[in-house]
Amino acid sequence: MKSIKLLMAMSLLLSITSCYAKIGNVRLPEFNSFINVGSPQLVYQEMSSLIDKSSEVSQLKALLDNYFELKDALVKTDGNTASLKAEALLKAINSINKESLAKNEYDEWIKVMKELAFDAEHISETKDAGHQRDHFISLSKNMYSIAKVTKQEEPVYYQFCPMANKGKGANWLSKESSVKNPYYGAKMLGCGKTVETIK
Ligand SMILES: [Zn+2]
Repeated sequence: MKSIKLLMAMSLLLSITSCYAKIGNVRLPEFNSFINVGSPQLVYQEMSSLIDKSSEVSQLKALLDNYFELKDALVKTDGNTASLKAEALLKAINSINKESLAKNEYDEWIKVMKELAFDAEHISETKDAGHQRDHFISLSKNMYSIAKVTKQEEPVYYQFCPMANKGKGANWLSKESSVKNPYYGAKMLGCGKTVETIK
């Protein structure tokens, strides 16, 4: 993907450069239109910054988006939706191409991928929110390590409820700073607090 974009940037650069070469016989209107586009150097810089941005969005970001949808379903104690969202998460986990991850992402990924897949699979295979929440504890712990090494466009909040997990406490990740507890849902929606903001 990156190499295709680079190729496109290069060919655009080449075509602009070759147009410039023709400017020798100065046809003013054409020349002006190129001025509007910008110098080849400028265009090249712009294309390069686009390339850099696209490679910054990690594959692991998609996992987090799936995770948030699953979390929202558990906040609603909606076992059916949670099962579907976990299925989508499992698909995303299985489609990660680990060879193309950045080094720090790769190191973390190989540590947690099996457990992530295990928990996502169990959550997808039941519609019982209680069983889903049991797996959501370790799923969230592993997603936290992924969030820590993935570049985020927006902050991610790591939140904690001391009552979950039979009083041992449990964490989850959220895109919102306000607490909506996925372990209790409506029973104790506001229980918990943000313990870390990941940026
Ligand atoms: Zn299970």
